[in-house]
Amino acid sequence: MSLFVCFGVLYTPASAAGAGVSLKLGVNDKLTEIEAVPVQGSYYIPLRALSTELNWTITGQTDGIAVAAGGKSARLLNNNGGLKLQDGTVVPVDSFLRNGSLMVPVKISSYLGYSITFQGDKYLLRVRDASAALSDKAFVEKYGDKLKPQAVSTPAPSGDNAVKGRTLYLTFDDGPSATTAQLLDILDKYEVKATFFMLGPNMNRYPAQVKRTQKNGHGLGLHGMTHRKEKFYASPAAALAEMTADNAVLKKISGAETTLIRPPYGSKPYFTKNFRDKVLNQGYHLWDWNVDSEDWRYKEDSDKIYNSVMSQVHKLQSSKTNPVILLHDQKATLKVLPRLLETFKKEGYSFAVITKDMKPLNFWNDER
Ligand SMILES: [Zn+2]
Repeated sequence: MSLFVCFGVLYTPASAAGAGVSLKLGVNDKLTEIEAVPVQGSYYIPLRALSTELNWTITGQTDGIAVAAGGKSARLLNNNGGLKLQDGTVVPVDSFLRNGSLMVPVKISSYLGYSITFQGDKYLLRVRDASAALSDKAFVEKYGDKLKPQAVSTPAPSGDNAVKGRTLYLTFDDGPSATTAQLLDILDKYEVKATFFMLGPNMNRYPAQVKRTQKNGHGLGLHGMTHRKEKFYASPAAALAEMTADNAVLKKISGAETTLIRPPYGSKPYFTKNFRDKVLNQGYHLWDWNVDSEDWRYKEDSDKIYNSVMSQVHKLQSSKTNPVILLHDQKATLKVLPRLLETFKKEGYSFAVITKDMKPLNFWNDER
């Protein structure tokens, strides 16, 4: 069986082929010398070389590079402005220079009517159209060992910059709840991972959901015990005690501990330096958000939530900032979530969980 992937799969980090190895690109029935270079789980190829293989016409324009492929065309906008499709939609495709070549994600070909096949275990990355005669299986048999990866000769210079703004961090506060199971079902369906900032008493009430959250590979974070402003922010010691107790509940249920915290209502204005010194010096990392869904406020008005989130995410895209989206583990959010995920996937975003190794995003720019 060949595996025709949607764009999302090419964005999943470190599949069987592994990060850090380049693949030779298959184009229809031919194994080319084009080196597809992985950058954070996406494969990038030189635009000019691919255009030559596929007889595309590329033309420099004032606002970017026009690519014409058969009946279809698209425009790669300047300054990593994305790929403008024929219908005017702009999808977040970025590019960078490597050894003098303009590198673009291989998924660009899917917007021009091609199918992309990726089989990590067979080292197969193939772009094809209707003219391809070989099945993927036959292709793998024909080229065998030649498909084997080579080490990347030089790392992509601006690789990290090239992918900024394209990884999305979904975060869910206040859970677990009576609807966590449905929430996890939706995330499973879209193969999306998120990070959960959970309250101790709620974990005690829904331990099975905590276990499932962990088992499914979502990120685990702490949100305290009381969620009451006057209690949590009574003193730095009170805040630390809540996080410690919350962590103990997490450990009791899941066996895991975490260093990720999000104080109730976010860290501004109450989580001042005294609080941060007390809590962060214990090894905790403070996480707020840069996209507020206001799902607790708009509840069933999913249009309002959807439009607000998308406009905030697109704003961040233009500044190459990865969105960290605040959502809540609540019934109303279940309604808008599939729609958001559909759009994020369509626009080429990938999803990741927050980890302790990341530079924390918070309202105080406290990097501890
Ligand atoms: Zn909360």
